[in-house]
Amino acid sequence: MTPEELKKAVIASFSAMDATELEDLLSRSILAATLYGKYVAGTEAAWPAGQMPAHIARMDITPLPFDEAIKYWQGKIPITADEFWKLADESRALAFSYSGGTRLEMVQDVYDAIDKVLEQGLTLEQFRDEIGQVIEDLGWPGYRSDMIFRTNVLDAYNAGRHKQQTDPAILARRPYWQFVATAGACPVCQGMHLKIYPADDPFWDTWYPELHPHCMCSVRTLSVDELDEFGLSVETEDITGKLFQPEDPETGAKLPPRPLMPPRGWGGAARFKQAWNPDLSKYSEELRQRFEEEQARRAAA
Ligand SMILES: [Zn+2]
Repeated sequence: MTPEELKKAVIASFSAMDATELEDLLSRSILAATLYGKYVAGTEAAWPAGQMPAHIARMDITPLPFDEAIKYWQGKIPITADEFWKLADESRALAFSYSGGTRLEMVQDVYDAIDKVLEQGLTLEQFRDEIGQVIEDLGWPGYRSDMIFRTNVLDAYNAGRHKQQTDPAILARRPYWQFVATAGACPVCQGMHLKIYPADDPFWDTWYPELHPHCMCSVRTLSVDELDEFGLSVETEDITGKLFQPEDPETGAKLPPRPLMPPRGWGGAARFKQAWNPDLSKYSEELRQRFEEEQARRAAA
């Protein structure tokens, strides 16, 4: 059986299974993987120097590409910075650019490099090599390519997660979403940490991460049973704009109160919705044409 056939067979058997059975199977698989990991760690000391036992060395653990994230990225078209800023906020989900990207070829190079990051799992260093010419031409300091790398890769991952979380089968079983801020998060995200809203609440149109440069926050799904089990409560009002007193991420000191609001142009599931169901009416004739040509070219590839 080829890996492709195996994948199809597994997916087919999952869709025929009822959810309890699937949960049982998954939890047993996770337990088995954990025990196997413990076994490997426990026996490691006895391995001949530098050699893995054959049954472990044989295992192929190449991570799988994140299909939904790649699809989101490939649904975008690279455009110049000028064109980009003329677009309405939501339409920007369908385009890629960066400030200083005045020539289309330069934008295209960076776009292609991020595509490789998503498809082949390039590291930041490899990404920098790919766009060496752009970095040189624009005189970018290190943090600039770092930020473009993180922002766009995380955005694509979030779009991919959002796509999975809004799958009707997942929504039916896990209808609540919880915001999870990373430790040391910026003041914007601290105020949202662990807040729970229904998945279909308009709250997420504004507050789906990422919400600022280097934002590593995420959204996790919850079932009704989990709410009960952990005694979690669902927010009943939108706290956007309410005053909140954040702590300095470095010192822990209280900062002056400020309204809860993501910086303009950041965050929100509205852009993902637009990406999955493009409305091109906000595009100029020329951009619309390019978008359609690009989509047709990719569909044919
Ligand atoms: Zn954040």
